[in-house]
Amino acid sequence: MSINSGKHDWWYKACDVCPKKVDPKEDGTWECKRCQKVTKTYTIRYKVEIIAFDETTTITLLLWDNEVLTLLGVKAQTVHDSMAATYEGYPSILDELLERKLLFRINVKAENISGKDTIFTVWDICSDEDVVERYYPKLDLTDNTTQTGLTEDGSSNVLGISQAVVNLQNDSDS
Ligand SMILES: [Zn+2]
Repeated sequence: MSINSGKHDWWYKACDVCPKKVDPKEDGTWECKRCQKVTKTYTIRYKVEIIAFDETTTITLLLWDNEVLTLLGVKAQTVHDSMAATYEGYPSILDELLERKLLFRINVKAENISGKDTIFTVWDICSDEDVVERYYPKLDLTDNTTQTGLTEDGSSNVLGISQAVVNLQNDSDS
């Protein structure tokens, strides 16, 4: 498992009120299209891409703010503010994600099945070791993704939560 994020892409500029990304306006302010508000400030939130692999497959997972915040217990804004302006790569605190043994529930979209989008979004994380152990021998992503009921023409992009579970281990363990 490794982090696929650099200096500028482990975070994004979010609305101060909701998790939506804000868009820059010409006068230097920021707009949240969900809240329909324009503000002078924004909030830094996590958006971390990780690459996970086991014996059978490699998968790119996207962890949003909620998940990373739960795992690390430190807000992205706090991490961002603590970094020197000249830092390279991503903050070392993200490495703590790699030391965890986790079970991910992922969202499988039609674009994932067709191969147009190779990044899977994480919907839920379980770090309970007993639960993780229970699922570990059953890992078979391919089988599970074929059970999502996607129509032949790919017209449905609502697949619900995939039953697929991915056990991620730091590659240095293996
Ligand atoms: Zn908002």
